[in-house]
Amino acid sequence: MLQNLSRIIAQDKNFLNIINGRRVGAVTGKTIAVACPSDGSDFATIPACDATDVDRAVSAARLAFEEGAWSHMPAFERGRLLTRLGQLVEEHGDELAALEARDTGKPIRQGKADVAATIRYYEFYGGAADKIHGDTIPFLDGYTALTLREPHGVVAGITPWNYPMQIMARVVGAALAMGNTLVIKPAEDASLSTIRIGELAIEAGFPDGVLNIITGFGGEAGAALSAHPGVDYVTFTGSPVTGTAIQQAAATNNRGVTMELGGKSPQIVFADADIGKALPVLVNAIIQNGGQTCSAGSRILIEHSIYNEVAGELAARFNNLVAGPHDADLDLGPMINAAQKRRVENYITAAAEAGIEVVARGSIHVDAPLSGFYVAPVLFGAVDPAAVLAQEEVFGPVLSLFSFNDEEEAIRLANSTEYGLVAGVWTSDGARQHRVAKRVRAGQVYVNSYGAGGGVELPFGGFKRSGHGREKGFEALYDMSATKTIVFRH
Ligand code: NAD
Repeated sequence: MLQNLSRIIAQDKNFLNIINGRRVGAVTGKTIAVACPSDGSDFATIPACDATDVDRAVSAARLAFEEGAWSHMPAFERGRLLTRLGQLVEEHGDELAALEARDTGKPIRQGKADVAATIRYYEFYGGAADKIHGDTIPFLDGYTALTLREPHGVVAGITPWNYPMQIMARVVGAALAMGNTLVIKPAEDASLSTIRIGELAIEAGFPDGVLNIITGFGGEAGAALSAHPGVDYVTFTGSPVTGTAIQQAAATNNRGVTMELGGKSPQIVFADADIGKALPVLVNAIIQNGGQTCSAGSRILIEHSIYNEVAGELAARFNNLVAGPHDADLDLGPMINAAQKRRVENYITAAAEAGIEVVARGSIHVDAPLSGFYVAPVLFGAVDPAAVLAQEEVFGPVLSLFSFNDEEEAIRLANSTEYGLVAGVWTSDGARQHRVAKRVRAGQVYVNSYGAGGGVELPFGGFKRSGHGREKGFEALYDMSATKTIVFRH
């Protein structure tokens, strides 16, 4: 399979977009070079689209929606096509895992885990397509009132570079299951798996114009897509700053939006927790994908009486962590690009200069190319909750430890940032599990685990500055549709 991938890339390193079921470049012919973060070398190109290309893609999606080949197709048949796409992703799993790893720098085993989750999204939404239904509502005598769930129309999906294949799958799965048509713009740093899966959708038999993919810079293709009057709904996953720009653009036409933004997620460790179970999960929650994960568990709040013990155990693990190229499959890969590496390093330097204690530091593999974008993981101890490091999303392998004295203080600390995406609670006290899980302001709370199994079925999204609307599970199907009420007079 890896040989297959090399062949594809050797023959076809100029990736094309998909508009109306056809593979096309940008009208201007402009392209963007695609670099591998493991060594910084360019190995492919993607089209650099502008407003003209966006207009073509939105028109194709509009035509497909209005003609009704998709929205009027029986829901179970839409579901079958999504399931078929999942099967094709599985058949091409090794190729897609290798492509995702090379494009993003993530270790190959993470690429494989992403493929497994991607398959699950297409299976889940394929199976769910015919299971969303409306209600009949008790109303006035002589009337029957009922509701239908109808598609918005043309949905625009703007996705980030950290989990491109998975995030594409949850957008495509929910939007298409409900009968919408789609234009997806992946991040310019990692568009290849999105394009490849778009090609597989053609092979699966999706009607022309149902799933369109355009690539390009956020400020150009992304901005044109989010402002396009032909778009009915925008779903975005990315940074809060871009989220604000997209909501402003969407507001000009009063369109609905789903916003999945950043996080500064806490994990609260009480003295009665099973520390042996917690430790590997606490480390993985910040190291997975190099910490470039919106739900990264970047703050660990530890009850005072066990602070030294837990900090010592975490330090021992951190000192052994090694960053290296995606194909070496070490603990973590490089950052996505040079700017992200600089950004993470700046947080580390500023925190150390501000006097925050560096408890442990991992390393970069001796054979890692100097031209790659590596950052050694860092564990900071006894962090002031008001420090920049405690408040801002670093989006890198940087973990901060805090100590608390009682449950009240733990909850206050957990809720002390602008974000509210995910939280972890570690305790063996059943009543406390319920109390704390209810009082932490986060869209998902895990008790004695964290991010278990990818959670395709579990609604996901933020409180506070982490966003609004929900992806994943059945909730995403509600967001990707609108309720119509019909009243019959007898
Ligand atoms: P980003 O906001 O820079 O880019 C995301 C997407 O938006 C890309 O496709 C980009 O091209 C596009 N974009 C950029 N500027 C735009 C504009 N003006 N108009 C329209 N589109 C524009 O984010 P990123 O750097 O790719 O991702 C990192 C951020 O995403 C982090 O803050 C992270 O927490 C967040 N994130 C959140 C989730 C979640 O589900 N909550 C998941 C992954 C990442």
